[in-house]
Amino acid sequence: MTTQQILAQLVSFQVLGGDSNLSIAVWIEEYLNHLGVEVIHVPNDDGTKRSLHCRIGPAVDGGVILSGHMDVVPVAGQAWTTDPFALTDKADGNLYARGSCDMKGFLACCLQAVPYFLKAELKTPIYLALSYDEEIGCLAAPALAKHINEHYTEKPKYAIIGEPSMMQPVVGQKGIVIYKTIVNGSAGHSSRIKTEVSAISEAARLIIWLENKMNALIEEGRIDDRFSPNHTSIHCGLMEQSGIAPNVISDSATFYWDVRVIPQDKASQILHEFENYCQSLVDTNADRFPGFTIETTSFHPDVPPLDTPEDQDVVSLIRKVSGVDSLAAVSYAAEAGQFAEAGFQAVICGPGDIAQAHRANEFVAKDQLIKCEQMLERLANLMG
Ligand SMILES: [Zn+2]
Repeated sequence: MTTQQILAQLVSFQVLGGDSNLSIAVWIEEYLNHLGVEVIHVPNDDGTKRSLHCRIGPAVDGGVILSGHMDVVPVAGQAWTTDPFALTDKADGNLYARGSCDMKGFLACCLQAVPYFLKAELKTPIYLALSYDEEIGCLAAPALAKHINEHYTEKPKYAIIGEPSMMQPVVGQKGIVIYKTIVNGSAGHSSRIKTEVSAISEAARLIIWLENKMNALIEEGRIDDRFSPNHTSIHCGLMEQSGIAPNVISDSATFYWDVRVIPQDKASQILHEFENYCQSLVDTNADRFPGFTIETTSFHPDVPPLDTPEDQDVVSLIRKVSGVDSLAAVSYAAEAGQFAEAGFQAVICGPGDIAQAHRANEFVAKDQLIKCEQMLERLANLMG
């Protein structure tokens, strides 16, 4: 099958982040089994989702993992001019469908290359590692990377994550964490605002603290010009369950905030300082309302940043196989940092432009798929 034929199959599976992905996983597994490749499952707890991995080549150290996710973002509310779940070739050099760019185009190139990998009689193995629920917070990659570490007796060395990068090697990625903060104050008639503890007022102080913290980091010169924006961003994007009426002091306020860290900053350190500030508010208000609490929990598993040093072997590897010498960094979160945390030298390099991802009329340029096929061919030759 050609890359385009495989891509047409892959985009027909409407597997959004959060959905069961068994339909697309089974199709990919059958494709690989048909070629004689054994596929390993990494299921979720209730068996409704699974990541997949497989090895092509001998069980020796030093192999390369090619990694991508099988889920896509929703299309609801987007003005598509074609069926988002049918690959459309408009004869303008681009292939249109949800996921064509992010990131089933890369998966299709990898699957297309498997017969070539098999023929190449690899001396060092190539692995495929396919995850689910990437689009709702990179939820599955840590278990997938851990399983790869435990399942194989040999140790793969590299991971290439094929997120859309226009086939540009990417060695830096921001991390992201999302926190949920619940403020419990005391309810009462709004005239008693100096007597009760308004959860909304205290939440407002906390949210402003977050913005001030971001600005303080910038002023301290914690800047990384590889990223846009070039600093850690901290932002509250959602409030809920906050108050019941204008004339009732709110006893509860809940808000969610995200931190997108540049590699030199640590989300855990920002959280630590935030919690110190929370404690100071609790102490201040203890006389008025001893039951006043502020509780912050992690709303999503942390997605660590990626900061692959230029002297790591994976950098010369990706330069060789992509044919591109320059190195870039991206501000979106991806699974690369998670693979790096699991002990693999990781880079991002994949077909398509991130600007075309997640929007109506998403597409991948055919010449990007060809460049990716060529990269995989060079990789097989290098490993052969
Ligand atoms: Zn993606």
